[in-house]
Amino acid sequence: MRLILLGPPGAGKGTQAQRLVDRHGIPQLSTGDMLRAAVKAGTDVGKRAKAVMDAGELVSDEIVNAIVAERIDQADCARGFILDGYPRTLVQADSVEKMLADRGVGLDAVIELVVDDKALVGRIVKRAEETAAAGLPVRKDDNPEVFEERLREYYKKTAPLIGYYYAKGLLKGVDGMASIDEVTGQIEALLSEI
Ligand code: AMP
Repeated sequence: MRLILLGPPGAGKGTQAQRLVDRHGIPQLSTGDMLRAAVKAGTDVGKRAKAVMDAGELVSDEIVNAIVAERIDQADCARGFILDGYPRTLVQADSVEKMLADRGVGLDAVIELVVDDKALVGRIVKRAEETAAAGLPVRKDDNPEVFEERLREYYKKTAPLIGYYYAKGLLKGVDGMASIDEVTGQIEALLSEI
């Protein structure tokens, strides 16, 4: 199964992706996590991405497309994967389509977590507080100022993907404002139909 989770920052993509991993035994491919790992490891990609990520802007299509193309060829992706936070631009969407077509496979569904923007800043602040309380490092971009920029980037560059995937008949919406368990239930119900 090959899925995309779509939605603004703080919509719950990572949480739901993790649940899909546990349930379906396919990996979560989070470009955000991969980029943060590259920053931490001090690789060339990490060095190029760091300032852009700290500002809440999008890293170049070229960089993320290359990271994903390499990742999906790894053995654990043979049965499928969950793309979390990728694609985020129309160029990336075209790129993933081509990557999959070249490998003779396709997407099964694009799940959009539909949320109310105004609730998102509160979620991000809560995520930062909970992370700090657990003694874990807080993401530099999980603060209200950078979050506003991440949201702007989402509406400018990522929201057009909703129409893109709707036109392909792949888009499935779930109510991202429901409880975590309810959202998981809605996703599983959708997946049982495909
Ligand atoms: P995330 O963890 O998905 O919120 O991503 C954190 C940051 O990593 C984003 O604000 C971007 O700077 C960068 N990033 C993650 N995924 C992508 C992507 N698909 N395209 C461009 N930038 C990305």
